[in-house]
Amino acid sequence: MHERLFTPGPTEVDAEILRELSKSQIHHRTARFSDLYDDIQINLQKLLFTKNPVFLFSASSTGAMEAAVTNSVKKSCLNLVNGAFSDRWHQITVKNGISCEKVAIDWNKAITPELVADKLASGKFDAVTIVLNETSTGLMNPIAEIAEVIADYEDVVFLVDAVSGMAGTKIEVDNWGIDMCLAGVQKAFALPAGLTVASVSEKLLKRAEEVESKSYYFNLPLMYKYHLRSQTRTTPAIPQIFALQKQLNYIVEIEGIENRFERHRKLANYVQNWALKYFSIYAEPGYWSNTVTCIENTRGVDVANLIDTLVSEYGIRIANGYGDLKNKAFRIGHMGDLTLADITGLLKIIEDILNL
Ligand SMILES: *Cc1c(COP(=O)(O)O)cnc(C)c1O
Repeated sequence: MHERLFTPGPTEVDAEILRELSKSQIHHRTARFSDLYDDIQINLQKLLFTKNPVFLFSASSTGAMEAAVTNSVKKSCLNLVNGAFSDRWHQITVKNGISCEKVAIDWNKAITPELVADKLASGKFDAVTIVLNETSTGLMNPIAEIAEVIADYEDVVFLVDAVSGMAGTKIEVDNWGIDMCLAGVQKAFALPAGLTVASVSEKLLKRAEEVESKSYYFNLPLMYKYHLRSQTRTTPAIPQIFALQKQLNYIVEIEGIENRFERHRKLANYVQNWALKYFSIYAEPGYWSNTVTCIENTRGVDVANLIDTLVSEYGIRIANGYGDLKNKAFRIGHMGDLTLADITGLLKIIEDILNL
């Protein structure tokens, strides 16, 4: 049975996009593949407001997060943590034996430019990791303001996990000086899982040459060598790449990039107002996400039961609170290709189930 996903990843994928997965395969060392690769490049660069190359990883986002830290740190990495995924990035850094420091704040609070300025003033760090949009808490960090602080540090590379934000909210990679901006396509791109895209700056590529990444698979300079030939270094996930091409054409040519962001803003607004009417919102005001809302369970609802009922009786899935927030909150993903009608329909059903 088709379960409609209102989860903050994976998200609902259009049937037309799914058909791309079953197209006959092409060889990845052919001109046909390079044309496909180039077409995707152009649209990804438009979407990210960047001139940087955008690499394709046939891996989930976590793989690209690992590539980011293993290719960039010579001195030490500052891991800014205010949620489950930013904490994951810290663990990835530790596991790879890379020198790092975790700065953790409350999960319902945003990382501030002041905090970053204070930490960087020590001169200890040459890389910073941050999550743009914490999917675990529905909080969007003020990346543009933090970018201004980081811009003062010539030798610091700025690594941004934009997994549940990219294609749902504006990210100006070049203006903000983001050295690596990565996202798995199973979130706001509304694509099947299995592929991650990441813009990579010249500064990061230079750094990567000096760092000598211990990873063979996630080696940015080697990936770049193939990028220059409009190829991927290893056999890529061709079906997912077909789907990405189709969806990027839709985003850029048909829907329009700014229109897409505006639609996400409208959906977010609607869900936020609904959440405030019946519950409350977990993240501090001013930093609510454009793509996912984490709703505090102020009514003592049996969240697991609500989710089961939505699935079994309506064929719809939302997400429970993440980790410690399980049953204390629930999350609604309002990202991808969902319409306002989809969202109003979902919220009406929840009202009915809970007798709100
Ligand atoms: C989903 C998500 C990830 C992990 O993605 P995978 O594709 O499962 O590796 C990392 N960061 C954020 C912000 C996410 O939303």
